[in-house]
Amino acid sequence: MQLLRYFLTFVVCLLPTVAQCWGFFGHQLINRMAVFTLPPEMLGFYKYHIQFITENAVNPDKRRYAVEGEAQRHYIDIDIYGDSAIYKMPRTWKKAIEKYTEDTLQAYGIVPWHIYKMKFQLTEAFKEKNVKKILLVSADIGHYIGDANVPLHTTENYNGQKTGQIGIHGFWESRLPELFSSQYDFLFDRKAQYLDNPLNTAWEAVSNAHFALDSVLRFEKELTAAMGEDRKFGFETRNNIPTRVYSKDFSQAYHQRLNGQVERRMRASIQMVADFWYTCWVDAGQPDLQSLIPQSFNPEDLQEIQQEQNSTPNPTIQARPHETTAMQLFRQLHQQNGCCCEAQRQVCVKKAP
Ligand SMILES: [Zn+2]
Repeated sequence: MQLLRYFLTFVVCLLPTVAQCWGFFGHQLINRMAVFTLPPEMLGFYKYHIQFITENAVNPDKRRYAVEGEAQRHYIDIDIYGDSAIYKMPRTWKKAIEKYTEDTLQAYGIVPWHIYKMKFQLTEAFKEKNVKKILLVSADIGHYIGDANVPLHTTENYNGQKTGQIGIHGFWESRLPELFSSQYDFLFDRKAQYLDNPLNTAWEAVSNAHFALDSVLRFEKELTAAMGEDRKFGFETRNNIPTRVYSKDFSQAYHQRLNGQVERRMRASIQMVADFWYTCWVDAGQPDLQSLIPQSFNPEDLQEIQQEQNSTPNPTIQARPHETTAMQLFRQLHQQNGCCCEAQRQVCVKKAP
């Protein structure tokens, strides 16, 4: 039993590093805060539905193990394309396919192109004045934009697995925001702006995230050498299970060394989400959103929304072609040991008997 407990703890500890992006907490915060930078014509509608926009910010992560082709929408391993690939990669999907083939692009992630594709879906939803679609796609695009702004979503070494830093993914994008985002400044002195070239904006996000990658990895390595493994990790109780986590001291020191990087990426995400929502609305002819507020969901809408929120993991679907052992362990636990996904963390914990 004790052995199983430690085994579960090990898996729990590793999972957020591969299973999600920005953490559920970060994604929900980004979508929520984006609402407040919208112009008055959009603000009322989005504020009315702010809970929906917040809660559904994590649907794409829930789909990662349920829908074939979903996983690669969350990242792009730009460094597999060689030196200076961030500059050289063709920006348009058509030219990128010509250069690398679609199979290759799908294998190593498509986040900037997927954001651009969703831009059209949201514009269509506004044109149709389809409330359910507007809300679901707004929440989804917010998620992918958040991911595009995360440095570790732009590299094949996405969890430090190539540099002896396994766990850094969840550390940077889940643990740090959870510990420190209450100190971040999410007030903006600008309202959402129209994007003349949304595809370029998506690529700018990926580029800026990728430029920050060196610091993400290097500072963690330096700090580990300076503080030692003993001070790097500690235990916290999660779901009544003692769970190995990055210690508060180590987190604090790392966060300080990053010098506002997480906050900057989060702020960039928030602004970009609002800019995309606004651009889609403008391109749709600025429909009167206020008049849509009284619309309620019919039973079919509610069923669809529920399905989006409760995707069931499919054991045959890989989140990444080069998936980690931790995820395979998670699947086995999920299937064989009666585990459940705890909504806020998507970690595998043993169900109470
Ligand atoms: Zn994601």
